[in-house]
Amino acid sequence: MGAALLASWPWDNLGFYKYVLYGPLVGKAVASRAWEAASPDRWILLLLLLFGLRALTYQLWSSFSNMLFATRRRRVVRDGVDFDQIDKEWDWDNFLILHALMAAAALCAFPSLRHLPAWDGRGFAVALVAHAAATEPLSYLAHRALHGSSGRLYARYHSLHHSSRVPQPFTAGLATPLEHVALGALMSLPLAAARAAGCASVALAFAYVLAFDSLRAMGHCNVEVVPASLFRAIPALRYVLYTPTYVPRDSPHQEGGQLLSLHAAVRSAGWHNRPTLVGHAEEDERRYTRRLVLCPWSMTGHQTTYIGLTHFSFNNLTS
Ligand SMILES: [Zn+2]
Repeated sequence: MGAALLASWPWDNLGFYKYVLYGPLVGKAVASRAWEAASPDRWILLLLLLFGLRALTYQLWSSFSNMLFATRRRRVVRDGVDFDQIDKEWDWDNFLILHALMAAAALCAFPSLRHLPAWDGRGFAVALVAHAAATEPLSYLAHRALHGSSGRLYARYHSLHHSSRVPQPFTAGLATPLEHVALGALMSLPLAAARAAGCASVALAFAYVLAFDSLRAMGHCNVEVVPASLFRAIPALRYVLYTPTYVPRDSPHQEGGQLLSLHAAVRSAGWHNRPTLVGHAEEDERRYTRRLVLCPWSMTGHQTTYIGLTHFSFNNLTS
């Protein structure tokens, strides 16, 4: 089982020294003074900057989800992350190294990609269409294959991602190299489409990749940031955007955890046991009730009876 192709990271035994893998890019950037406008290797500096921002994106979402003073009432899975999960997700950023190497290889193979204009607004429209038409459906099919009926792919590859009991932003990085190779390829499709249409730009690459990462981190952050009222006002939104509420909680993160938006369609297909919009609304109501319990003085403001207050359990303060 452990010998499956691309089921483990080849630099697993390097520990912290895995960052040496960025060495050739950093070395070439320094040697060619990539920070100077006239440098032919300016693309390397941009690449390293992009991947630094990708890591920062996940870190910021992780910091946010752990600000319990602000997020406690909106946590979906109430449990904390145990040491076993922390250890397992310690090298969550392996995929960033892999994607950096994949991007550098693509830029070396296609030198014209190194000289993109800073901005071209048309590229955003092309990328959006390509994302909806290709990246989302293909990632949905790939994910479905990983959950296939035989269970072989799930056992060899995808079970690792679903082994985390409490989803958090770093859980998005907990997957096998094979899955992250596929993810990187799928992410490249909209950018390749924009390039083929002659309207790719540096701004598009940064915006698309960072938006992609932000949505993935948000979906795994275990803190509901989208109010149910928004889904009630725009029902179609639940087929476009998935949020932490829609990760199943009975068996935390055992079946859910989509890539991005159209994966929400699995809910309507009944493939994943995901809560419906009603579930989301109930979540909001539950949090609202909890807020009242935490602030008993506000109960009177909401015309809750004094008798009710006398039956208030202070154990609830810890819920
Ligand atoms: Zn899955």
